[in-house]
Amino acid sequence: MDSNIPLSVPNLSLDILDNIKECIETGWVSTGGQFITEFEEKFAKYVGVDEAVGVQSGTAGLHLGYSILGVKQNDEVIVPTVTFIATVTPITYLGAHPIFMDCDDTLNMDLNKLEEFLENNTEKTVDGLKNKTTGRIIKVISIVHVFGNPIAMEKVMYLADKYGLKVIEDAAESLGSFYASGKYSGKHTGTIGHLGIFSFNANKIITTGGGGMIVATNPELLSKARFLSIQAKTDPLYFVHDEIGYNYRLTNINAAFGVSQIDKVEEFVKVKCNNYNLYQEKLEKIAGLKLLPFNSGTRPNYWFYSVIVDKAEYGIDRDELLKKLNDVGIQARPLWGLMTDQKPFKECYTYKIEKAKYYVKNLINIPCSSNLTEEQILYVVSKLKEFKRD
Ligand SMILES: *Cc1c(COP(=O)(O)O)cnc(C)c1O
Repeated sequence: MDSNIPLSVPNLSLDILDNIKECIETGWVSTGGQFITEFEEKFAKYVGVDEAVGVQSGTAGLHLGYSILGVKQNDEVIVPTVTFIATVTPITYLGAHPIFMDCDDTLNMDLNKLEEFLENNTEKTVDGLKNKTTGRIIKVISIVHVFGNPIAMEKVMYLADKYGLKVIEDAAESLGSFYASGKYSGKHTGTIGHLGIFSFNANKIITTGGGGMIVATNPELLSKARFLSIQAKTDPLYFVHDEIGYNYRLTNINAAFGVSQIDKVEEFVKVKCNNYNLYQEKLEKIAGLKLLPFNSGTRPNYWFYSVIVDKAEYGIDRDELLKKLNDVGIQARPLWGLMTDQKPFKECYTYKIEKAKYYVKNLINIPCSSNLTEEQILYVVSKLKEFKRD
């Protein structure tokens, strides 16, 4: 066995070569071509929507998304402090400002705190919902299904509706996750809010090398996304542009990966679920380590596995464990640095960040690729046992 165990790597198959060969033979290698359409159609069908628009990255999708939902200079967008930075950076591309929210014990945005904030710190005005502290208008709530764990969308949509806000679902990590009970039973993450964004970066559950997808509940928003992703070209023959657009369309080469990968999502979820259960069974017996659960009433995609290290019981702290694991070739990593601790966001508005500070200090992610073997998992577990200090 190769003793290097990566955290999360692509699971690709050689049928992609046939698709790439076709791209080369036909010359369709850029932002046009049949694989783009085919991937969009297959993707839409898989997540249960009519239409989807392929873009060059999840970040590009989020940038278009915020723009289409009307986020402008000086507006505000509510975001979690626990996320990958790409949820937040596109807000600043538009000259707007993030409002940072805490997480709860699921690592997703704390919706009770969100409600409290909306209740006490905002007021409805003719221009929209005003943040009483900053005086700026709040346009959008941007939620993240962190590590593939579906957030309570019923509550998100209830609050958005009550306060007249739009919702973006950053579903970059949660392709394959859906609700198994409640109002949204059967619905996939990303398909409930006004817009949903997915990513196919190399460490996500499926990959196209680089790429993303946008879905929307209103088809007009989606048409707008497609239009802006191809430089807002109004007349394709005479190159007329009536608006500022972007070069964000997915390429046919990336889509050639996608048409193969999208067929494998369920297979990958199954492996990831089995691997999660095996870790769970083994980690239960190691005092001081706790594998975080996914939300009940959902069918998560089990994208990333999170373990909380309780130093008092485990004997060593999170950082020492991280180092020991990486020293023996097991790639483990901490939670992302909180957005509220990032230099560009230091001065931004934050609302009662508390729990996130605990999780950022005590959490590790352990290997979770969909091609991880039982033997590798048992090796990781044996090291976790070995490193415990009594
Ligand atoms: C990966 C990721 C993104 C960005 O996707 P890219 O395709 O890498 O641009 C955005 N948000 C979250 C939560 C992510 O994990």
